[in-house]
Amino acid sequence: MAAPIVSFSRNAAFIRGCSQLCRRTKRPLSRTACFSKCSKSLSTSVPVRHDYDLVVIGGGSGGLACSKEAAQLGARVLVLDYVDPSPRGSRWGLGGCCVNVGCIPKKLMHHAALLGHAIHDAKKYGWNVHVDPTIDWSTLTTVVQQHVKSLNWGHRVQLKDKQVDYQNAKGSLVDAHTVRMLSASGQETTVTGNNIVLAVGGRPKYPDIPGAMEYAITSDDLFMLDRPPGKTLVIGASYVSLECAGFLTGLGFPTTVMIRSLPLRGFDRQMADLVTDHMEGSGTRFLRQHVPMAIDKMDNGQLQVVWRDGNGQQGGDTFDTVMMAVGRFANTGTLGLDTVGVEWYSESGKVIGQVENPEQSSVPNIYAIGDILHGRPELTPVAIKAGRLLAHRLFAGTHEHMDYDKVPTTVFTPLEYGSVGLSEEAALERFGSENVEVYHAFYKPLEFYIPERDASQCYVKAVCKLDGDQEIVGLHFLGPNAGEVTQGFAVALRSGLTYQQMVSSVGIHPTCAEEVVKMGITKRSGLDPTVTGC
Ligand code: FAD
Ligand code: NDP
Repeated sequence: MAAPIVSFSRNAAFIRGCSQLCRRTKRPLSRTACFSKCSKSLSTSVPVRHDYDLVVIGGGSGGLACSKEAAQLGARVLVLDYVDPSPRGSRWGLGGCCVNVGCIPKKLMHHAALLGHAIHDAKKYGWNVHVDPTIDWSTLTTVVQQHVKSLNWGHRVQLKDKQVDYQNAKGSLVDAHTVRMLSASGQETTVTGNNIVLAVGGRPKYPDIPGAMEYAITSDDLFMLDRPPGKTLVIGASYVSLECAGFLTGLGFPTTVMIRSLPLRGFDRQMADLVTDHMEGSGTRFLRQHVPMAIDKMDNGQLQVVWRDGNGQQGGDTFDTVMMAVGRFANTGTLGLDTVGVEWYSESGKVIGQVENPEQSSVPNIYAIGDILHGRPELTPVAIKAGRLLAHRLFAGTHEHMDYDKVPTTVFTPLEYGSVGLSEEAALERFGSENVEVYHAFYKPLEFYIPERDASQCYVKAVCKLDGDQEIVGLHFLGPNAGEVTQGFAVALRSGLTYQQMVSSVGIHPTCAEEVVKMGITKRSGLDPTVTGC
């Protein structure tokens, strides 16, 4: 454990006690000189002894970003990370959900599925491919896990390089400045921090039905499953479900998705329906308005699932794998939030941030970032940005806050869906139908022609205010590489992009992205929005 240091209520990072080394300039400075170098005002409060300037609980996207940034700014930082194994026994290393059981393995498996599709296309382009490709699940999981492990290692090296202390221990709050650390071997110690950041992320939920916990897997298990999933049922209908079902279908596993109400709740309805239409056309089976009732294991090892449909009728089928993708809960239950008075919602586990300082909890020196913050998008870049900005506010005296508005995202289904800003429904509700103009186009990517791929769902839509130059309040893109396309337009939208500016831009030909700057048909006109010709 680090030797105790003197810290002050603000800007403690820059002074390791007066007349000592300024950690930013690396020169011996008087306390006043140090503060004036850092353009800070000297805090008048009584110095308090803490082990660290910052203790971060959770070494995932947000926690690692915050701790590394704080250390770069001269703070003495400790980060704790601990992974409880999933009910199926899956466990992983440093880096949190994104690296281990989220974005990274998901995107790699999505890419693997797209490659399979590309091999089919390749034949039409003249490649001599003599066999129908099949996936070797063991090779896929091995290479994916190798990459994940390299990222785990990379994170450890970066923490060391940036002089962030790291403990593989489970943290909980004892008081507003004290954290209990429980190591894997059961050893318990405490450490104190001037500031504490909670960044413990979320874990998958299980529905309360017989057999769910015993027999179902979740996304925490899928990417390291030690056998091919085979015939799979994915329960749930949002990001995790559709992305996983999409690549499982693409990899050749017969896959069914069980939808309780709507696919992709909260997204633009038309786009969400096009996503599932495309998946259905690509071989994913959908059970709509169905809820699971029970799962049981049969003598042959298969899982018998009983469900109820929208008419109240019971039905069922057998599967090799059942995957729950019914949402996530914030991993805050064992943090001791009540002990120290951090306000949170016990049902979701989410911490309630302050209105004027969204990451600050009801205890002023305790902050929450990433997936555990109530009402904020659960996305890696959001957690990272919030963590970095918080470190700057704490240790560099900046005032910039995370802007959670117009955060772009992409759903990595076989046909990717990228969006930024409002859905059409949300815009109509906010501004009224008489004040909204929607431009749209169905298009066919050039690459689809030769292999005769169906492009019925390749679609773009710009939701604009009707007045003036028509500010774009929502942009939606369904097609190949949607993430790459949407990222650039998101920058423009955040800068107040108008429809007039967009269509005055010159396209890049021949691309799918150019369809965005070419959109000229309004929904209001009723004209056919299908793009024809080159
Ligand atoms: P996490 O990254 O989850 O990190 C929290 C860490 O804290 C974990 O390592 C956890 O084990 C640890 N921890 C928990 N409790 C304690 C404790 N008491 N003490 C010490 N350590 C603790 N987002 C995207 O932007 N793009 C995507 O493509 C994408 N794909 C996803 C795919 C899937 C299948 C899933 C499930 C999520 C995906 N996400 C994606 C979401 C993204 O992974 C999360 O938003 C992001 O990881 C949240 O970061 P975080 O720092 O809040 O938490
Ligand atoms: P969500 O909370 O978004 O969706 C949960 C889904 O499960 C909904 O379709 C919901 O249906 C359904 N559901 C809930 N309870 C039940 C039940 N008892 N029986 C049947 N269905 C049920 O969770 P996800 O896990 O999909 O995603 C979590 C977050 O992770 C996302 O919000 C996203 O921010 C992030 N993520 C991001 C990705 C990306 O950036 N590409 C990829 C994956 C995740 P209903 O609508 O009826 O409530």
